[in-house]
Amino acid sequence: MNSPISIAIHGGAGTILREQMSDSLKAAILSDLESAVRAGHRLLAAGGDALDAAVAAVKVLEDSPHFNAGKGSVLTHKEFVEMDASVMHGARCDAGAVAGVRHIKNPVELARSVMQQSDHVLLIGEGAEAFAFEHGYAYTEQDYFFTERRYEQLQSMKEKGMFALSESRYPDDNKYGTVGAVALDAHGNLAAATSTGGITNKKYGRVGDSALIGAGTYAENGVVAVSTTGMGEYFIRKTVAVDVAARMRYLKESVQQASDSIIQGELKALGGEGGLIALDAHGQVHFAMNSSGMYRASIDATGHVCVKIYADE
Ligand code: ASP
Repeated sequence: MNSPISIAIHGGAGTILREQMSDSLKAAILSDLESAVRAGHRLLAAGGDALDAAVAAVKVLEDSPHFNAGKGSVLTHKEFVEMDASVMHGARCDAGAVAGVRHIKNPVELARSVMQQSDHVLLIGEGAEAFAFEHGYAYTEQDYFFTERRYEQLQSMKEKGMFALSESRYPDDNKYGTVGAVALDAHGNLAAATSTGGITNKKYGRVGDSALIGAGTYAENGVVAVSTTGMGEYFIRKTVAVDVAARMRYLKESVQQASDSIIQGELKALGGEGGLIALDAHGQVHFAMNSSGMYRASIDATGHVCVKIYADE
């Protein structure tokens, strides 16, 4: 029990417009971010495991309607909520993930159950839900996840035949609202968790990076824990989360160098917008983004609390 404890979270990166952000919405988002990071930190301070802390933080964001995960998830073309989540524990690189689940209140918990209680890493759709119900999860109606805001976004997107809005009605319409957390516990374990509703107007069972170990989520003790957010098609192609770990391991880059190399370099060059949170084995947190903002918060090894929205903060 002698490692520093540290935790960082995100609520999605992208275009977040100051001029459209009301004081009340901003206060609500900042308050949710702070509650989430504190929920995870409380577990760490009590000697809890890094993965349990990351899951606890993500769960708070899944339960908030302000983020694209759990309640408040975006809608598919057929007007369903279909969620993806993944978790990784850095001690033995254990991992669990689910994709396309429709009736699970907290997909991040199900991802952890897949890791801990199945012989597999990734379960999808009805199969993932059958596993969930066998393991005591409640069936949650789709109505629980719906918000008026997401319905409006879907209609606007359908009119344009697009997957991303070009006009925004909300300050963060052009933001990828995935949520994630990375944590370092007192035993030196690193862990990462990511959860999302994916992208508005998605079709054909589309799955993004948030369900994929190595793309959206990665953790390895002694190296780094990473959770990403952005257009998944790019993050999958550049296996962004594991790229950060590989740069740190092989090139001996710092967490900041490794994160910025991929986010500001090859990912951006490809056209991939977004960001990530990363935490190294010493508790050093780094937020990387090539977009105008990323909802984010951290409590670092000194206990300093930081909650921010814009890239220039
Ligand atoms: N990465 C997520 C996806 O492509 C979207 C997001 O970050 O909000 O499914």
